[in-house]
Amino acid sequence: MSRVYNFSAGPAMLPEEVLKTCADEMFDYKGSGQSVMEMSHRSKVYDGIIKEAEKDFRELVGVPDNYKVLFLQGGASTQFAMIPMNLMKNRVADYIVTGQWAKKAFQEAGKYGKANKIASSEDKTFSYIPDVSDLPISDDADYVYICQNNTIYGTRFTELPNTKGKLLVSDVSSMFLSEPHDVTKYGIMYGGVQKNVGPAGVTIVVIRDDLITDDVLEGTPTMLKYKTHADSDSLYNTPPAYNIYVCGLVFKWLKKQGGLEAIKAHNEKKAKILYDFLDSSEMFKGTVEKKYRSLMNVPFVTGDDDLNAKFIKEATDAGFVNLKGHRTVGGMRASIYNAMPIEGVEKLVEFMRDFEKKN
Ligand SMILES: *Cc1c(COP(=O)(O)O)cnc(C)c1O
Repeated sequence: MSRVYNFSAGPAMLPEEVLKTCADEMFDYKGSGQSVMEMSHRSKVYDGIIKEAEKDFRELVGVPDNYKVLFLQGGASTQFAMIPMNLMKNRVADYIVTGQWAKKAFQEAGKYGKANKIASSEDKTFSYIPDVSDLPISDDADYVYICQNNTIYGTRFTELPNTKGKLLVSDVSSMFLSEPHDVTKYGIMYGGVQKNVGPAGVTIVVIRDDLITDDVLEGTPTMLKYKTHADSDSLYNTPPAYNIYVCGLVFKWLKKQGGLEAIKAHNEKKAKILYDFLDSSEMFKGTVEKKYRSLMNVPFVTGDDDLNAKFIKEATDAGFVNLKGHRTVGGMRASIYNAMPIEGVEKLVEFMRDFEKKN
């Protein structure tokens, strides 16, 4: 059996140990005589699985008691609508637009109320994070919205914005569980799990209790009310049961690695190997301002489209897959999430060094 180093932005690599447990438990989950895939989500066994997943997540992140953890569907993209539907009491919200995902969320919110773009980095193709220390926050804003790690452009917020007392809502999809999260800083922190946490199909929403109400925009579907899911512990309807189980295994794996501080140190070490190489290379260059470099998504270019294409092809043949940059930016992007082993990055750099010599 040979596995590739998968540098995809998502769905992405999962820890091999987790995949092996999935394989071992596939036919008969702990003597239940069934696969978790086949199990009723109302069964006692499954209730144990989802409760334990939530408990492990809470311990791992340190989620305070006044926050709920919800396992939802519809991807991170559904949150772009769900957030305004549930939080826009004044029908006003402020958006900091630092990439495509923030822009999509901003555009979606405009359907439900007045969405203000209070800062943007689009003038330089989203290659930096704007100064967020003193923004023109609207007096009647229901919340301030950010995308904390920009998957496509490879930037991240190094500090959270000064929201001047307004609620902060953050999309952490591509940095979820890659470092400690201070939940108390947010009204809502959410992410699709397929980047860093599990198989596609689950969105984890961490939401402060007082934001879960029946006071939502008129016409909000039952399924898009946080209260619906909070009241039934994420079991209002059939959840993505198997995928939540896999997320649970990843939470246990992360705990075993030493928790989020330890995984952060590991991720910093991995990112440094790649960035140090980019900074010393004559051929390959990073594309974002150093200060805002993401630890998870590393875009780079050679400055020549044909050479980029040649590199991507040869890298793929050598077992380094999905290095093509996002279709809107071109070039290359290496996503090095939690489950990417350090050897994967070391070997990629070795391959890049060799490619540079030969070309
Ligand atoms: C991938 C991604 C999304 C979209 O996720 P879906 O689950 O496909 O809807 C949103 N935000 C960020 C930051 C992402 O990386």
